[in-house]
Amino acid sequence: MSAIQRWRLSTMFCVALSLAFFAMGARSVLAPPAGAQTGPPANPLTVTEIAAGVFVHQGAYAVFAPSNRGDIANLSFVVGRDAVAVIDTGGSAAVGQALRAAIRSVTDKPIRYVINTHMHPDHVFGNAAFADDQPEFIGHHKLARALAARAERYLAVNGELLGPEAFAGTRLIAPTRVVQDRLVIDLGGRELILEAQPTAHTDNDLTIHDVTTGTLFLGDLLFVRHIPALDGSIRGWLALIDRLERIAAKQAVPGHGPPSADWPAAVQPQKQYLQRISADVRRMVKEGRSIAEAAASVGLSEKDAWVLFDEFNARNVTAAFAELEWE
Ligand SMILES: [Zn+2]
Repeated sequence: MSAIQRWRLSTMFCVALSLAFFAMGARSVLAPPAGAQTGPPANPLTVTEIAAGVFVHQGAYAVFAPSNRGDIANLSFVVGRDAVAVIDTGGSAAVGQALRAAIRSVTDKPIRYVINTHMHPDHVFGNAAFADDQPEFIGHHKLARALAARAERYLAVNGELLGPEAFAGTRLIAPTRVVQDRLVIDLGGRELILEAQPTAHTDNDLTIHDVTTGTLFLGDLLFVRHIPALDGSIRGWLALIDRLERIAAKQAVPGHGPPSADWPAAVQPQKQYLQRISADVRRMVKEGRSIAEAAASVGLSEKDAWVLFDEFNARNVTAAFAELEWE
């Protein structure tokens, strides 16, 4: 099996990267090289102002390809009186630079915070574009470990998927500040509440609540139209949805989907999908059926409801089976 095949089987959804050099102590790999932001100015990403001072770029419904440069996840920034916070940075340094250009087309305020909602490369690979701003890079307390475990493979595989041109300058930057439980950051008269969540989409999901506008940034805890991708715990994810639904927010920003969606209405299709997978897998485990049989049949009734169904469903079922067969 080729490296690409293994990649597609194991982590095709929003891909993860890595920080093996962390574990290896090769910190120089993480240090921003001089002139990291030199080169031709990037074309700004298209952004939508979904609430006062809250801007979202909608990523493509696609998997990593040279044509999209890894621009497949939603990327956001929030502008306060004194500073800007970025929430997720895209799937390559090039996308991060284009996001930075979009920020600079809106405001000259300093970019003090770069927040990553979780480890997947389409959300963190653009971090390098912000290195010269010297922000605090903020993530879940388990983010660095998760990146370290995947670094080498993901850098190699994503480099191959995007090609050298689109991947140029892409590297990993680990969090410089971690959220153990809850952290409040102040952009100047505007507080963002960051919460480290238990294992759900991944084991390092972080949510951000902009109380000023009632906007909840959920990263990949929320998929809209784009089929959900499971890389954590289906039981944990369903339990967390029950809790998140009770947050009184006006709107949520999904990791994949439209720039914003009504909350909690937006999570109902995803909840239904995960409940369907969970119930059908449990039934097949009980019947003594194999993981391959489950992967070939479970969830098919949901096919028409989602974009990229064929790319992710069987993998979701396989992950759910591996978790639920030991109940
Ligand atoms: Zn993800």
